[in-house]
Amino acid sequence: MTEKPDCIFCGIVDRHAGSDIVWEDKLVLAFMDINPVTDGHVLVIPKVHSVGLTDIAPETAGRMMTVAQRLAQAMKDSDLRCDGVNLFFADGEAAFQEVFHSHLHVFPRFPDDGFTIGAHWDGRSNESLTASALAIRAVLDRDGDGLELTGRGGETRPERDVPPRPRSGHSTSPPRPAGPPAGRGLAANPRP
Ligand SMILES: [Zn+2]
Repeated sequence: MTEKPDCIFCGIVDRHAGSDIVWEDKLVLAFMDINPVTDGHVLVIPKVHSVGLTDIAPETAGRMMTVAQRLAQAMKDSDLRCDGVNLFFADGEAAFQEVFHSHLHVFPRFPDDGFTIGAHWDGRSNESLTASALAIRAVLDRDGDGLELTGRGGETRPERDVPPRPRSGHSTSPPRPAGPPAGRGLAANPRP
């Protein structure tokens, strides 16, 4: 079987541990986080044990996102207070992962709900952004991935109909990887 001994989330999959389940299909399970950021906070997990992000089977990882979409819409359509939704995935201890069975947080948001992200939204020079892009591209190019539409060997900052990025102010910045709420971990311990 796929269960990993002593993994609490595997125990939930196998019903050895109790939880309030809201979704189950052949690939994923979703249940209520017992330390919710807001009421309605759900964890979506692969039923086959994996630890982080990249060891989830691709089909299952895709399914997790599809289920998160469906749950987010259900939250918005429910009686719960839900003006918006955040997804949060912690891959590794440095990213504040606390339970080492892959899990995707899905939780309702509304103004003044107490959730904050402590981060330095500093702008970067174009040179710095390009250097970062090249560091990632070097690996993707090695593996033949990632430029299906733009073609290989092109500039990382092509002259095309992409508006220039604002260099400061994060109200117009694209989404950045989220950190945990300040002073509060995203605890993900299921009910024992
Ligand atoms: Zn597990």
